[in-house]
Amino acid sequence: MNTIYDQLIIGAGFSGLCAAIQLKKNGENNFLILERNDHLGGTWYSNHYPGAACDVESHLYSFSFEPNPNWSRQFSPQQEILKYMEHCAEKYELQNHFRFGANITNAIFDEANGKWNVETENGEKFTSKIIVSCSGGLSQPSFPDIKGLETFKGKMFHTAQWENDFDLSNKTVAVIGTGASAIQIVPAIVSNVKRLNLYQRTPPWILPKPDGEISSVRKWLYTNFPAVQRLHRNRLYWQHEIMALAFIKKPGLLKLFSNLSLRFLKQNIADETLRAKLTPNYVMGCKRVLISNDYFPALAQKNVEVITEKINCINETGVLTNDGKQLPADVIILATGFKAAEEVSRFAVKGRNGIDLNDAWRDGAEAYLGTSVAGFPNMFLVVGPNTGLGHSSMILMIEAQVNFILEAVKELKQSGAKFVDIKQETQQQFNKDIQEKLATTVWQSGGCTSWYQTKSGKNVTLWPGFTFDFMKRTATFEKEKYEMV
Ligand code: NAP
Repeated sequence: MNTIYDQLIIGAGFSGLCAAIQLKKNGENNFLILERNDHLGGTWYSNHYPGAACDVESHLYSFSFEPNPNWSRQFSPQQEILKYMEHCAEKYELQNHFRFGANITNAIFDEANGKWNVETENGEKFTSKIIVSCSGGLSQPSFPDIKGLETFKGKMFHTAQWENDFDLSNKTVAVIGTGASAIQIVPAIVSNVKRLNLYQRTPPWILPKPDGEISSVRKWLYTNFPAVQRLHRNRLYWQHEIMALAFIKKPGLLKLFSNLSLRFLKQNIADETLRAKLTPNYVMGCKRVLISNDYFPALAQKNVEVITEKINCINETGVLTNDGKQLPADVIILATGFKAAEEVSRFAVKGRNGIDLNDAWRDGAEAYLGTSVAGFPNMFLVVGPNTGLGHSSMILMIEAQVNFILEAVKELKQSGAKFVDIKQETQQQFNKDIQEKLATTVWQSGGCTSWYQTKSGKNVTLWPGFTFDFMKRTATFEKEKYEMV
């Protein structure tokens, strides 16, 4: 059976929920949210490893229209964030709009009737005038290209596929990678495992985490005086925007923060050899700046070794490094991140004249305002190309993009148009400007490689500006930039 909708939302993470809530608020009810997992939450459902928490303050990393006065900490743990998302779905009555276990295999645009036909793995078919792709920038685990990975006889899993039932106690654990996920996992498991061998390719820049419980007095204040909570959110907002200034326009400011980070390292790591291993040799901010109070202390534990020698291969019993040293492991945890810049669409998306999205994006993903892609009419992306942030809460970008999409939905309705398609030249000019701006940022010139870039070095993930710039640009749907059919 083919079911017809006005909008299909792909993904039930923060983006999908935001799109659904705003559509509903605007009187749209004939939409469906297709989610491959059996629960909502997206990245906050999948990433449930020990220690998982947000590294942006909860009072900023939450919807502006749904403040939560009761966040327990400055930086809330994963389970609390997931509960918040569940609360949002319930409050805005989205329950009947979800289709879980719906793993899409293809989405094909039919130009004759201006509709998208979407099919799932289990053979279900849907037709919709509009698709809103909210499948997330960090939803596809990246498995390292290490020789012999498949030959390991012990237990091995990726951080985004954590096996809760597996008991790590008294095990020798190898952790590969030292990004945002690893620095949360290592302190959470270190006292439970027998040995922890941490394989580091590039040391991250780490700053202290201004974390802590939020007192009941503050919660009471936020509940009874919402303006105080808004004030707090505003303060956080501007604090983060200042970081954008450092990353994009005034890299000199980063020196202050890198000095702070080096002092923090020295305070926590007495051993000079270990400290040298943990000292970054690229400009701070080039890779995501991490925050943690317990990562360095964890590395100073007796049962931890930080290995910086390059991994040669993984074999049946453990990890062999280039210096010929073989360290056995019972468990290998792949903290190796996500495919963010490459292989962007995990299912076939075919637009006008049968063009495939991954083909169109062969040299790096591009869109207009991270939302519309030329040749793919009535398809809108949330957290699309160059909308990621190195400095603040992604919820800000999500809300801005959803606002833009709503304007497009209204325009389609009012004009009676069959579809809108961003003009190729508009998209090209927009991306030319973006890449010019990026060229001088710390992400391109900071002397590192990161998941922000494709293999060829093109940054297709980050927004090179302030969030208020993006909000301004997405406030109205400029129909003259689109071909309207
Ligand atoms: P990541 O930052 O991409 O880190 C991956 C790590 O694996 C890096 O240290 C990388 O080394 C290493 N690695 C990759 N391939 C390797 C190989 N073949 N051999 C050895 N090492 C290898 O991934 P992540 O830690 O999962 O974080 C990804 C993003 O998710 C974050 O930047 C953040 O945006 C988000 N995240 C957020 C939170 C949060 O608190 N909100 C928590 C977790 C993740 P190199 O650095 O040398 O490439």
